[in-house]
Amino acid sequence: MGKRALVMIPGPTEFEPEVLQALGAPTASHVDPGFVDVFGEVLELMRTVWRSPAGQPFVLAGSGTLAMEAVGANLVEPGDGVLVLSTGVFGDRFDDLLSRYGARVTVIRSEVGRGVDWDRVEHELATGDYRLVTATHVDTSTAVRVDPQRLGDVARRHEVLAILDGVCSVAGERIDQDAWGLDAVLTASQKAVGVPPGLALFVIGPRALERFKGRHSKVPNYYCDWAKWLPIMEAYEQRRAAYFGTPAVNHVQALRVALGRIQDEGLDVRFKRHKRLGEACRSALTALGLGIVPENADEAANTLSAAWYPDGVAAGTFLAAVREAGVVLAGGLHPKIAPKYFRIGHMGATGPGELLATIGAIECGLRACGVEFKLGAGLRAVERVYWS
Ligand code: PMP
Repeated sequence: MGKRALVMIPGPTEFEPEVLQALGAPTASHVDPGFVDVFGEVLELMRTVWRSPAGQPFVLAGSGTLAMEAVGANLVEPGDGVLVLSTGVFGDRFDDLLSRYGARVTVIRSEVGRGVDWDRVEHELATGDYRLVTATHVDTSTAVRVDPQRLGDVARRHEVLAILDGVCSVAGERIDQDAWGLDAVLTASQKAVGVPPGLALFVIGPRALERFKGRHSKVPNYYCDWAKWLPIMEAYEQRRAAYFGTPAVNHVQALRVALGRIQDEGLDVRFKRHKRLGEACRSALTALGLGIVPENADEAANTLSAAWYPDGVAAGTFLAAVREAGVVLAGGLHPKIAPKYFRIGHMGATGPGELLATIGAIECGLRACGVEFKLGAGLRAVERVYWS
């Protein structure tokens, strides 16, 4: 395989060659009619992928954190009560971020590896004074998956806005933004959408736009202000050029290719493929004797897996041996458990071939660390579960 290893971290992922070609194509003017068409198609395709015909898509140059920032800057006013449901590092990031916009944040923090306690959420929203509730669909630090339908349902009943961080889920895990009553669903290009890092992507529902338009105070962030970007997104979708800040032309071209691939595959087929990858990966890890970080199989993500190291295995030695076998994995991220576990991304363009290569490399890594297991047990589990 030469020096190039398979990148199986939870973003950036492996990308389709056609997407990379679009990224490397000559750069068009951002007001060129051809590019205006491409941008317009991107915005229309986002409505399809998010399943939100009623929503307003935004594409900004930046990363997923910028999408979170845009939500904070535009939907929070000083003194607003926000309930953050945290299942890991990225839930906690919302706490820190939204507090900076003057929100009074209450965090319902799950134990590492556990999902959301919905009874607590129900009680808190019934008794507290809230305007917004946030959840992380898949927290990439724990691989715990939260039910976004439940988030939308509880938010609707208590008349608060529902914000979903879908950075590690959009286009990989099932999302039905309009039907589930989600007011903002945000992501970044480098995960299951399948474009190298560089774009913040989000779709804002009508209730959230209304809240934004009724603000009492000025948006305290110049670049993120939706008053600046809304006319731009509307113009491009109507096939007119407009300018506030120069769009990331090549990334937008690459996103057009990636969203086209998603549409061609079909969303239901794509969600099913991710579910199979998730189940096959967890079965393989279990067959090799490793424990899974999410405690409940129903709450384990399908876009990435997180597994505990066997006793006596040092992160550095294991990850280096897996790398030597041709696969790059991610170490632990959650500060409470970081040295004790590792993470595998399996989203976007990833298929069973990449998963087999990854599990094979993990078997090599475990062997290099002196762990006893049945050679090939992980590979057999992938074959059995993925094609069952
Ligand atoms: N939320 C989640 C769930 C994430 O996984 C990440 C990135 N790992 C972020 C937010 C932040 O995105 P970015 O690194 O693109 O700023």
